[in-house]
Amino acid sequence: MKAVQITKTGGPETVCLVDIDRPMPAAGQVLVEVKAIGVNFIDIYYREGVYPAPLPLTLGQEAAGMVVEVGANVGRFHVGDRVAWCTSLGAYAEFAVVPEAALVAVPATVTFEQAAASLLQGMTAQYLTTSTFALKASDTALLHAGAGGVGLLLTQMAVEAGAHVISTVSTPEKAKLAREAGAHDVILYSQKDFEPAVKKITGGRGVDVVYDSVGRETFERSLRCLRHRGMLVLFGASSGSVPPFDLIQLSRGGSLFLTRPSLAHYVESREELEARSADVFQRVERGTLKLRIHQSFPLAEAAKAQEALQSRATTGKLLLVP
Ligand code: NDP
Repeated sequence: MKAVQITKTGGPETVCLVDIDRPMPAAGQVLVEVKAIGVNFIDIYYREGVYPAPLPLTLGQEAAGMVVEVGANVGRFHVGDRVAWCTSLGAYAEFAVVPEAALVAVPATVTFEQAAASLLQGMTAQYLTTSTFALKASDTALLHAGAGGVGLLLTQMAVEAGAHVISTVSTPEKAKLAREAGAHDVILYSQKDFEPAVKKITGGRGVDVVYDSVGRETFERSLRCLRHRGMLVLFGASSGSVPPFDLIQLSRGGSLFLTRPSLAHYVESREELEARSADVFQRVERGTLKLRIHQSFPLAEAAKAQEALQSRATTGKLLLVP
């Protein structure tokens, strides 16, 4: 079968399409014929070695497909079931073995492409808006990269929760998409400083929460956009990691809260994984969560897809199709 692997960490040039044996499901594992694969920033972190993993590594951790074989002691899934996952490596391939515990069922009305386009980023937007900082109708939220994969979903969920959403984006085209997703105010942070703009929009008070996935370039100003006792949710590092930080700044900013969440910790139990994925798929089925697939690439162009994501040129989701 075809798979996309790295044998050493580094840039896009390390990514190779290879022929390898189709894996066999061990006890507790399921063999899935992959139909659609989600491309995520975390795949780039694995390629670069930011997250260490044994080599050779088949990249990717999000996909949807059909169960074709089950290992011993697998009770929840059967051959022919439509499934998806987003926390098990090896997704950039024609077939993948996945622990039963990582799989969720895909409803009949949700396509494989929709499942691969919504599970990881959708559950991220879901836990950020319902658990990390559970948004209320009276809240004002600032979120960066509002036309990105997570950004468009986060915007829609925050708006559905009734919050006032201020979104930052880098281009007028992205501003249009952020507005279409429901953002009430959109700031072109490539053209003007978002900090004074946010202060102006909130009448000097500041926002209740900032969802910041950009990291190094926005972190300090994000903190300064908060109201007293507001929360900065730093959930990504698209512009690089935030350098060491003196906690006294949280006091000076007005007894602020800071958290650095990861999806894995919000789907640790079977109950949480099922509840969050069901919530995301139901929103897709109801049409309250619109998915934007920017582009689908063949498996052989996985490196190109990752370059596109890193280049800041994409909006919404990137998929690979085996
Ligand atoms: P996006 O589609 O949001 O792409 C990244 C966007 O970040 C770009 O389009 C760009 O938007 C913005 N950006 C700002 N500065 C830079 C820069 N220097 N280089 C590249 N991009 C930049 O990606 P995803 O939706 O896949 O992921 C968004 C972030 O969320 C990532 O950091 C990812 O790691 C994180 N994440 C975290 C999770 C968690 O649980 N903690 C789970 C899922 C994702 P613009 O041009 O508008 O500035």
